[in-house]
Amino acid sequence: MNEILHMTVNEMPQVTFDCSCGRRHSFSVHDMSIRRGAIEDLPKMAAPFKGGKILVVFDQNTYRAAGEKAVRLLKENGFCIKELLFDTGSHVLIPDEATLGRILQEQDLDMSLMVAVGSGVINDSVKFVTSRTKLPYIIVATAPSMDGYVADCAPIISHGYKYSPLAQLTYGLIGDTDILRTAPQDLIQAGFGDLVGKITALADWDLAANTEHEYQCDTCVQLVRRAMDKCFSKADGLNERDPEALGALLEGLTLTGVAMSLVNVSRPASGSEHLLSHFWEMDYIARGLNPNHHGIQVGVATPVIARFYEELKDELPEELYDVCPSHTKVEDLLRRGGSPCSPKEIGISRELFHESLLRGYMVRPRHTVMRFAMQRGRLPEIADKITEELYG
Ligand SMILES: [Zn+2]
Ligand SMILES: [Zn+2]
Repeated sequence: MNEILHMTVNEMPQVTFDCSCGRRHSFSVHDMSIRRGAIEDLPKMAAPFKGGKILVVFDQNTYRAAGEKAVRLLKENGFCIKELLFDTGSHVLIPDEATLGRILQEQDLDMSLMVAVGSGVINDSVKFVTSRTKLPYIIVATAPSMDGYVADCAPIISHGYKYSPLAQLTYGLIGDTDILRTAPQDLIQAGFGDLVGKITALADWDLAANTEHEYQCDTCVQLVRRAMDKCFSKADGLNERDPEALGALLEGLTLTGVAMSLVNVSRPASGSEHLLSHFWEMDYIARGLNPNHHGIQVGVATPVIARFYEELKDELPEELYDVCPSHTKVEDLLRRGGSPCSPKEIGISRELFHESLLRGYMVRPRHTVMRFAMQRGRLPEIADKITEELYG
């Protein structure tokens, strides 16, 4: 029962166990290697697919960080490979029709595997395409920037609208802490922001379980809480790119992905803070602007959602009084990890911010503290108050 709580993250692939929540969970990723020098494990991880060609996907930045080495290691070990470079210049790669179509065009009939070298967008794009073409893929992580490496959904953009269709899990994950150290600081901040976002994601899950009788798995909650504690205790080290702190961050994000895969819903990882982030991102894309990194937005949205819990304390059932820490505590934590802590700081306009508080709950049909505020008729008043406090 609950065996997973006694395992290290690298021991979790292919685990199946009976859980105290009454369900039998399994985690179907085949292989994970998170450690210094983990990229050396790539040929061994890819060995079952040696019979066919491998498409290795990267952009100009991730090529330098790890793509070049991944290609060399595979070639030295006798793999037949094809390379796909997204040369985006100063633009941010968007997981839209053009990017997904480009990957599909490069998939030859004799391919047995794709290797995605990158973080958010490259991972999500390769994951989505290989899910539809039924090809396995391995992700070589270049930044601890988000929690989607082992998640079974792929956030993509269609007609300018962001959604997260179901997708397959990766076959394997390589998280080399020597490579993660070279990640741009803003991607490290993003990963930290995404992990901080689990604070309100778990609070929203508690709220939904308590007030709407939604299913909840305590083992998954524990898994995510322990991962957060470990990473948050080393948060100061992220500014100096301490490998231990970066390893704990990637491990935390990966464990959140494991938890999501175990319950097949994104509850352990995503709540109202993600809805605000999606709302802002869609607005930026609609206006032809480069959005902020996903995790940076999630990070700054987290203290905002903590304020919702403060404002609604009188409406919450007693057992949920302490379900969410105060917004000042969350802001302090973000600061310690070197991440921005206010929407204003990252350029979200007053108008967009206010609108997102009023309409963000509609981005997904799920119970969150924002929807709770709407149901109680408190949403406009709280939106005005928080906007006034943050923007003056
Ligand atoms: Zn996220
Ligand atoms: Zn469970």
